[in-house]
Amino acid sequence: MAARTPLMAGNWKMNLNHQEAVVLVQKLAWTLSDKKHDPARSEVVVVPPFTDLRSVQTLVDGDRLPIKYAAQDCSAHDSGAYTGEISTSMLTKLGCSYVVLGHSERREYHQESDELVSAKAHKAVEAGLVPIVCVGEGLEVRQAGEHVAHTLAQVEGSLAGFSAEQVAALVVAYEPVWAIGTGEVATPDDAQEVCGAIRARLRELHGDAAADGVRVLYGGSVKAANVGAIMAQPDVDGCLVGGASLQADEFGAICRFY
Ligand code: PEP
Repeated sequence: MAARTPLMAGNWKMNLNHQEAVVLVQKLAWTLSDKKHDPARSEVVVVPPFTDLRSVQTLVDGDRLPIKYAAQDCSAHDSGAYTGEISTSMLTKLGCSYVVLGHSERREYHQESDELVSAKAHKAVEAGLVPIVCVGEGLEVRQAGEHVAHTLAQVEGSLAGFSAEQVAALVVAYEPVWAIGTGEVATPDDAQEVCGAIRARLRELHGDAAADGVRVLYGGSVKAANVGAIMAQPDVDGCLVGGASLQADEFGAICRFY
């Protein structure tokens, strides 16, 4: 079984203009170099707003930084009369490697369904982008003890139609909604319970190669102080980080968890 390279993705959400983005990426690169970061031991990805991507591309390419970048969403359409949307080909042209899909904020504020997330994920894969597909339960579901069933249903719906080979290359991010931006972090055992269940379900559906290849991230109030315990879990292959990714020192320390 090939080892899964840990992935640390920093979702900036609707923060930082393109000039501020350049400053943060420069500081992050400096921090990683200072900490003697080894890209083989954790893949570092920043997820800026669309308007920052061109500037991040210029900096990363020009200085050959060990940092990849992703978009926060993409369209399920190729091109045409879809005002405000951004296509996957526009993102690959900008050098994006990944695209975050189905983040709980998109599901909640834009009513994104598993079906739409799946359609976007297929467009992303066709274009050569790796989708980071977000799933996870809200507080009421967790309190009712239905978090595993709820999350697995989202995984099945959001990854519908992918072959075993495609699943092996995907990234799934388990983000309990009650732990996002709240400071309330799931315990390492909570993270393992659901990340392990996701991998087990993908094993049932698609076999060993898919389950052993897919990377399952945890997201929800990850910080330098708690990343080590979370990353020690066998089915956690990385983290999707929100607030802490806006501070170069803190995110650099998260990326250098090993
Ligand atoms: C997120 O937005 O995906 C997230 C996990 O945010 P935070 O780390 O701030 O909880």
